[in-house]
Formats: sequence, structure tokens, C-alpha cells
Amino acid sequence: MQQLAAIALIVAAGRGTRADPTGRAPKQYAALGDRTVLAHAVAAFLEHPSIDAVQVVIHRDDRAAYDGAIACLSPSPRLAPPVIGGATRQQSVLAGLEALEAAGPTHVLIHDAARPFVPHDVINRVLAALVDKAAAIAALPLADTLKRAGANNTIAATVPRGGLWRAQTPQGFGFADILKAHRSAAAAGAPDFTDDAAIAEWAGLAVRLVVGDERAGKITTQEDLRMTERQQHAATAPLNIRIGQGFDVHSFTSGDHVMLCGVRVPHTHGVEAHSDGDVALHALTDALLGAIADGDIGQHFRNTDPRWRGASSDQFLEDAVKRIAAQGGEIVNVDVTVLSEAPKIAPHRDAMRQRLASLLRIDVGRVALKATTTEKLGALGRREGLAALAIALVHLR
Ligand code: MG
Repeated sequence: MQQLAAIALIVAAGRGTRADPTGRAPKQYAALGDRTVLAHAVAAFLEHPSIDAVQVVIHRDDRAAYDGAIACLSPSPRLAPPVIGGATRQQSVLAGLEALEAAGPTHVLIHDAARPFVPHDVINRVLAALVDKAAAIAALPLADTLKRAGANNTIAATVPRGGLWRAQTPQGFGFADILKAHRSAAAAGAPDFTDDAAIAEWAGLAVRLVVGDERAGKITTQEDLRMTERQQHAATAPLNIRIGQGFDVHSFTSGDHVMLCGVRVPHTHGVEAHSDGDVALHALTDALLGAIADGDIGQHFRNTDPRWRGASSDQFLEDAVKRIAAQGGEIVNVDVTVLSEAPKIAPHRDAMRQRLASLLRIDVGRVALKATTTEKLGALGRREGLAALAIALVHLR
């Protein structure tokens, strides 16, 4: 793209009484996440590599609010001191343009402070169109069918929407062209135009429409502010994802079955354990407790406590599931690996996954169960016992 000397002129001089009927603060100074609406808008342009400088136009009563709003931004020589605007939006823009004349920019992008989130792509499209057009604005083609209301809100007509766009900002212009157009409009006492493209049109400039973005929407009401805040939160809130791992091993002793994943599996031996010795449930319980950093199975269910003698390990897992729920968490998925020469897991895999899913209260698609031998190596390879590994992902809200 050809390099333009482009300055962003952000219009923040309005009183914004629609967003806050109590008149406490104009909407551009309302908090939106970690900063004000205005600070978001300023940052969007300051952080764009093709914008040489940012000039904000403010109301004469808002200097302290402005200073407070931009205090969160890293100091930048590219952010010019604010200019005081006029009684109308049009007068404020003209004041800003007059202040910039000495800097001699080739182009200016005029932007509403009440549009806090302008994607860089939109700025790029406006700048690209300015290479061979006098003016270009961000806008969106209308998707809704338009109705013209008659008396008592009865539809008088359906207005064809073909060729109709909603104007957004930024609106880009050759600097000399738009300054001249604004001066002429002021001198002619022309009515207050609602955007700068209208002044450019009035002055006979060709204005190109480039595709804007719904995210560059204008905050007009308190509801807009709340909705934008929710969207912003959803887009930027860090995912509170926790991971935990668990391991357990028990040695064989005399018996005729082992418990694995809460399923009774016939075998030539049982396992040595205070409880039912279900290594898979013990490893998985520890993985879940690990994900929420809430101790381990031995801490919650002491193996010296007679209550847990021969106990079904289902209750250990269910206790961990309750602890996660108590923290507002959800189990995303679990993955269990059983280390066993014998018994074989495959014939029981489906029943085991179903049992785990039921205990965890999650879909079976989120429960993985794998088995491996240890190639006859070590104690497990000599069939002296069973072991299990587990990993669990938990989403805390
Ligand atoms: Mg154990």
C-alpha cells in the first residue's frame, strides 16, 4: 500500500445524554472493561502502524475527564494535545481540522469516539481506498428490510434496500479537500450534517464506500454500552482452564476380581488396598483434585479411617466432582491409562467409559480410556499389581 501521511481525528466533544439520562458523564467517558470508551477508540488508531498521529476533539468542560481517560495509555508523542470543540459535531470537526492544518497531513480519518472498537482491517480498507479516491468511508450494506412508518406506526411503504448502506466511521478524506468542504459549509451556514461524508458529498467530492465491521458499532444507549461490555468480556476474558494429573498403583493379593473404573473385572487375584483398590478411580480422583489444587485423595479419605475400609471408590470420585462443582467448575474431559499385563481391559472398555461418564456426569465422548502393558518389565510386568494414570481438564468460570 502506498504510504499516506494520515492523521486520525477523533470526535469526542458530544454530551451523549442518550447513553446516560442522568447526565453524569458523556458516553465516550463511560467505563468499558478496563478503560473508557474513548481510550479504546484512541488506542485503536494509536496502535495502527499507518496512522501518524491521533488528535482528539473534546468538550471544553471535559479536560479533566479526557486526561483521566487517556492516563491508561502509554505516553505517545503521536497523541496530540486535545482540541476544544464547538456546539455541534460539525463545528467540533472543523475545530479539529483547523488545529491540524499546520501539521500538513495529506489525509485525515475522522472517527466517532463512541465507536470504541475499530478493527485494523477497517482502517486498512479506508486507507487503501484513499490512494485513488478523494474520500472513503466505512459502511455496511443493509441486511434488514426497511419500512417507512405512516400514521399510528402503520407501514406506509416498504423501502427497497438495494444499494443502501449504513455509514460508520472512520471516514477518510484528503486533508485539504475536507478542510475546504467544512469551511465552505460553515461559511454557507449549511445545516448540521450528521457525518463528514455528507459534507464531502455537499462539496461535490466522490466518496467511496468500503466495508466496515459490526464491531465498529456506535454506542448510543446504556444498553449498547452493556452489550458491548459483554461482547468485549467474552472476547478478552482469559480462559480459566485447569489441568490435573493423577497416578495410582496397587499390588495384587489373593482374590477373584479387581475393580477398575468402577467396574468389577474377574481376575486370578484381587488387590491389596484399604478401599476397593480401584487404581483408575484413584488416579482420576487425584487428577480432578489436582486440577482445582484441592489436595489429594489420601488427604480427604485417610487410609487409616475405618469408614473407608473396603469402600467403593465411586464415592471418592463423586466427592472430587462435587468439589469442582462447588468452585463453579465443569469437567471438560478426562483421559485414563491403565497399566496392566492382566486382566485385559478391552472387553470392559465400553462399560468402564460409561461408568466413568456417569460418575463424572459428563458425556461419554469426553471420557477416554486406554490400556497398555509394560512389556513384562518391572513389577507391573511381572504381574505383581496394577497401575493407572489419569489427566483431567476443568473449566472454572
Ligand atoms: Mg489407591
